Amino acid sequence: MNITIQRVFAAVIIALALASTATAADITPADFQRVVDQAYAKYKGLNEGSNADYIPILAETPSDLFGVVIVTRKGAIYSAGDVNYKFAIESISKPFTVALVMEQQGPNAIREKIGLESTGLPFNSKLALEIHKERSVNPLVNAGAIATVSMVDAKSEKDRWNQVFSNISDFAGTKLTVLEDVYESEYENVWGNRGIANLLYDYKRLYSEPEEALRVYTRQCSIGVNTIDLGVMGATLSNQGVNPITDKRVMPAKDVPKLLAIMATAGFYDESGEWLYSAGLPAKTGVGGGILAVVPGRFAIAAFSPRLNAAGNSIRSLNAIRYISGKLGVGLFGPNLDE
Ligand code: GLU
Repeated sequence: MNITIQRVFAAVIIALALASTATAADITPADFQRVVDQAYAKYKGLNEGSNADYIPILAETPSDLFGVVIVTRKGAIYSAGDVNYKFAIESISKPFTVALVMEQQGPNAIREKIGLESTGLPFNSKLALEIHKERSVNPLVNAGAIATVSMVDAKSEKDRWNQVFSNISDFAGTKLTVLEDVYESEYENVWGNRGIANLLYDYKRLYSEPEEALRVYTRQCSIGVNTIDLGVMGATLSNQGVNPITDKRVMPAKDVPKLLAIMATAGFYDESGEWLYSAGLPAKTGVGGGILAVVPGRFAIAAFSPRLNAAGNSIRSLNAIRYISGKLGVGLFGPNLDE
């Protein structure tokens, strides 16, 4: 290649790179609405998987429900589908109680008293507690999440619950309610998590009385949210901890990157590697069918549909969010051009 051709070639490469950055920075309202509509249309007919049924009442949620939402850090909302249906937040509650404990005790308390490593094992694994020296492992699997609840600075069980609940409501920017039938169904069948809580207590990795932590954790998982609520919770993380609807600071800005790092490594349980590889975004899933992903500093993508894959992650929701991340080119490691 002669020098002139090389220069032209280099200029074209630079222009292309600048153009793709400009596209990523200048997503218009029409772009947001278009990708939400496209994701909804593309995956509405995907009927693989099945509702969670180890919590019996979750098997009764109509399996065909599907909602997709984007909420920006400025509070603009784009949506398609069943975005007003209230479902159980389940494990998507976990990172928000981590935020509360980080604020009360500093982020290092989570690192030291729970751990940060992804397990490569299912969300409710007891084996993970035996093979990792941290025992509680990370705050997004059940063991670590029950330990997180036990770390909330509380004078009583009522106080522990009130703090957990009002913190999650503040992230959503609205007074949420508990789905009492979900709580009863889950608490009646909570034997596995009770085993985990008791084991942790024995290993001195639980910081309150086990049954108290278990009740508050189960109640936290039974909070009802719709897909828009989830989107606003995520937009609050995108907005460095300030809820864009209420303007209330809900967590310190300095803790946000640490929380998002935990979501990136463990938010999809034993599928976290696959998720980060294909979607490139920190996210958290719940067995109620919700998934929340965060584009740091910009917006959140939330989706809900009850049918899950073997790892406990909603199939339509994960496909919709991955599609949007790819189309908008917002994966953290660079635009992911695969759909
Ligand atoms: N409450 C559920 C449990 O403890 C949450 C699981 C999930 O959403 O991943 O099993």
